[in-house]
Amino acid sequence: MTFITIDQPTYTTTLPISKIKLKFRCFLAKEDKLLLIAKESGDPDDINNAIKQVLQNCIITKNIDVESLPTIDVEYFYYQLSARTKGDLVESKYICQHTLENGEECGNILTLSVDLLELNVTKTEIDYNIPLNISSGVVMKYPELKVLNIIRKFGDDLSVIYPLIAKCIDYGYMGDKIIYAKDVTEEDLITFLETLSREQLYKIIDWMIELPSIKKTFDIICDNCGTKHTVKLDGLLDFFT
Ligand SMILES: [Zn+2]
Repeated sequence: MTFITIDQPTYTTTLPISKIKLKFRCFLAKEDKLLLIAKESGDPDDINNAIKQVLQNCIITKNIDVESLPTIDVEYFYYQLSARTKGDLVESKYICQHTLENGEECGNILTLSVDLLELNVTKTEIDYNIPLNISSGVVMKYPELKVLNIIRKFGDDLSVIYPLIAKCIDYGYMGDKIIYAKDVTEEDLITFLETLSREQLYKIIDWMIELPSIKKTFDIICDNCGTKHTVKLDGLLDFFT
């Protein structure tokens, strides 16, 4: 026989990119535990997996697979869920690295207060088709968060980003002919990228860099040395760690 069950409140939100309306509940104690274990491991992959698992558990709407949602929708939903579970204000720490007159670093710890319910995406429409000449081009897939972060960081190092771009191509077309990326090897895709002109290649890279993101910029003044800092928060892990 099961013991008594306690009804939990439910909430709804509309995901900004896929426009899916989600019904969800808060984290329960068991999910808090899952996140805590992942956080203690310090491994970004463990943390990402735990977050995905918790998000999936909390979705009440049927037939929604977190893995198949655009990354930015997952991130947006995570903030909504955290806001409903733990309150909408979270604190983030920032260390002042200003060099003082005596040559030492200030090191003062500043606290930022972030309202999760105010976070929003930079844009909500994405055109996945990238024409490369009159009749040919590629159609992209929304990259995973981890891929996107690496591309934003190493945008100029082509050896690092070729394989990452290859992962984000859904299919290529030449006139009426379509070839899906899943039907060729990663080497075939990299060879394709290597034969593009610099301008064509950067059309693809820029498309990835300009994908919508959830960002918030704060101006904060250090109460120790008086330096004004502009702090940019973006990405799930910034808030989580
Ligand atoms: Zn300072």
